[in-house]
Amino acid sequence: MTTEQIEKLSDKRILVTGGAGFIGSNLIETLLNNNIRVVCLDNFATGKRKNIEPFLNNGNFKLIEGDIRNLGDCQKACDNIDFVLHQAALGSVPRSIKDPITTNDVNVSGFLNMLVAARDAGVKRFVYAASSSTYGDHEALPKVEDVIGKPLSPYAITKYVNELYADIFHKTYGLDSIGLRYFNVFGRRQDPNGAYAAVIPKFVQQFISHESPMINGDGSYSRDFTYIDNVVQMNINAITTDNKKALNTVYNVAYGEHTTLLELATLLKEYLSEFDSNIKTIEIKHRENRIGDIPHSLASIDKAKQLLDYQPKYDISNGLKEAVAWYWKNL
Ligand code: NAD
Repeated sequence: MTTEQIEKLSDKRILVTGGAGFIGSNLIETLLNNNIRVVCLDNFATGKRKNIEPFLNNGNFKLIEGDIRNLGDCQKACDNIDFVLHQAALGSVPRSIKDPITTNDVNVSGFLNMLVAARDAGVKRFVYAASSSTYGDHEALPKVEDVIGKPLSPYAITKYVNELYADIFHKTYGLDSIGLRYFNVFGRRQDPNGAYAAVIPKFVQQFISHESPMINGDGSYSRDFTYIDNVVQMNINAITTDNKKALNTVYNVAYGEHTTLLELATLLKEYLSEFDSNIKTIEIKHRENRIGDIPHSLASIDKAKQLLDYQPKYDISNGLKEAVAWYWKNL
């Protein structure tokens, strides 16, 4: 955070929903490190108590254990709040295919509850986690914010509906918002466990346990992998910007380069081999492609650079090196 940003937020209270999760806990850590007051709302559906344990003794931190599907919990959390960083949701495309009803309840009804609670509490700005999945079946690369296709999963529908609701809440009630379409975020505290784990922590854990990581397909599919610190920067820029033209719209949050799955696995193997030379000999394996996976994803980050002064500091290589070092110590 810049000195100017810290000053702007020094007398503010920020609500981070989903604060026990991967992205939310990183946002809270940055805010608390800069002496800014934070309220966290989480029901620990996928978030971990250990992610927020280091904050519990901090006088600037308040935990509200509650569910965004409950309007009363959202109202309690929004009380006296200046800015919301709304991260709570059920992530994962496969999870939404297996259980579209719960995904919709949390990601759409829960989101609407949060908008209503934020509006009624007089919140100044509502910044929320949108998703690159909103590009759906549109094939053009790189992805630019105003050209989207049809959603390819229940999860993608929920994230697009968030954007529509945020827009209507601005037009109807004057609630200012910014949607951040995250592209494959990775970094410290991302959960490697469970059926819906993201590819980077899963591969890291497999290499560390001397198991072969499994790439779906031949490894030529690619993603714009985005290190967590770039995502934190965008969230902070979104709540602190004075640029009125930057409000009430959506932004890609990415690095702006793509890496194939095979390149990714190879880099992870190389970086982890520095900690354990046995990892060098682990074979990278392949299985069939997963239904619903788009071949390539790559963002244009021009809009974020122009309107929100976004300057991503970590490319894939530097981000992976930091992430790998963290997992080596903490897994
Ligand atoms: P995460 O699962 O680690 O964090 C989500 C948090 O929300 C968890 O702490 C969970 O307990 C909480 N939560 C879930 N349901 C809740 C409910 N009903 N009430 C209160 N809290 C609830 O996931 P993440 O990767 O940190 O994702 C954060 C946000 O970013 C999500 O909205 C996700 O859809 C979005 N996103 C993430 C990525 C990515 O690559 N990680 C990409 C695109 C969008």
